[in-house]
Amino acid sequence: MVGGGQLARMTHEAGIPLGIRFKLLSDTPQDSAAQVVSDVVIGDYRDLATLRAFAHGCDVITFDHEHVPTEHLRALEADGIAVRPGPGALQHAHDKGVMRARLSEIGVPCPRHRIVADPADVTRFAAEGDGFPVVLKTVVGGYDGKGVWVVRSEDEAADPFLAGVPVLAEEKVDFVRELAANVVRSPHGQAVSYPVVESVQVNGVCDTVIAPAPNLSADLSAQAQQLALTIAGELGVVGHLAVELFETRDGRILVNELAMRPHNSGHWTQDGAITSQFANHVRAVLDLPLGDPRPRAKWTVMANVLGGEFPDMYSAYLHCMARDPQLKIHMYGKDVKPGRKVGHVNTYGDDLADVRERARHAADYLRGTITE
Ligand code: ADP
Repeated sequence: MVGGGQLARMTHEAGIPLGIRFKLLSDTPQDSAAQVVSDVVIGDYRDLATLRAFAHGCDVITFDHEHVPTEHLRALEADGIAVRPGPGALQHAHDKGVMRARLSEIGVPCPRHRIVADPADVTRFAAEGDGFPVVLKTVVGGYDGKGVWVVRSEDEAADPFLAGVPVLAEEKVDFVRELAANVVRSPHGQAVSYPVVESVQVNGVCDTVIAPAPNLSADLSAQAQQLALTIAGELGVVGHLAVELFETRDGRILVNELAMRPHNSGHWTQDGAITSQFANHVRAVLDLPLGDPRPRAKWTVMANVLGGEFPDMYSAYLHCMARDPQLKIHMYGKDVKPGRKVGHVNTYGDDLADVRERARHAADYLRGTITE
């Protein structure tokens, strides 16, 4: 796996029961996955020679992020290396402009959008629709809300152009909530679909995920799952695909973005589904039969643990574990910095209000924002 973050750490964990030899290309030895994987190469994924040397020892390579340059992946494929998902698919997760163009081509509903040249062009884009505000995004390099601006005038539109990469303008969607439809597809075309979840964002960062999305109509749920399966098939995705969606006030769903790797909106599956997203990603990239994606409980809630004021989160375990013996804690081994994702918790049960409260309490207590 290329990339040493928490997604690689948890993918490695899912490969252990299958006896899979997991090799990692990581930026630093301190990265979340590099701390726990025994076979680690430290190096820069942007350097083709480093990638080549790493990949030549592997039967198949996969990724914990979408930042590897597409031309490097094409070079690896030309060397005969199995790259999953392949560059033809992954370019749509790497570049939001490529993604929007392709999804529109295959008839997937998206917010109104186009590439804009400069702030004056943003004003023209606004005038072509309902005016400002407009959402601007750098087409590559964004994550957790970085690389996304909501601008209310031409004067506010300068910053996105400073990065020197193309800028995508989108209508600001009036959504009631954000959903995610997660599917896994194998190279020979088997696919499984997880229940559609609600993802609650705070300051551009995923805060809570509720599985399944409460009060989602059967019709929209089926539409969302079908959309994700269609995208996976049309784009030739191998592995886990997260399709982030907006549910609009008038009852439609629009695609926000795609991630072709295990995703934060699927962390609930570790404890709440028969087969986790990580286990199914491993199965898919190895072209093994996929596992059952159905939920184990009526409700599962995942809450992210963000870094707070207190560097030692482990002293909170005593309280959290004693208060809720069903609580599942997943920490990433990362240094605590304010606002940084350092772990998550999963809770499950029959009563949604209770399941939500337990997840919220544990995440807040681990962060240190509450003390009892
Ligand atoms: P990232 O690469 O950071 O995940 P996203 O494209 O998912 O970037 O945008 C981050 C957040 O910004 C979304 O979760 C959503 O809340 C908001 N957002 C993005 N695009 C739009 C849009 N067109 N209309 C309204 N809100 C948006």
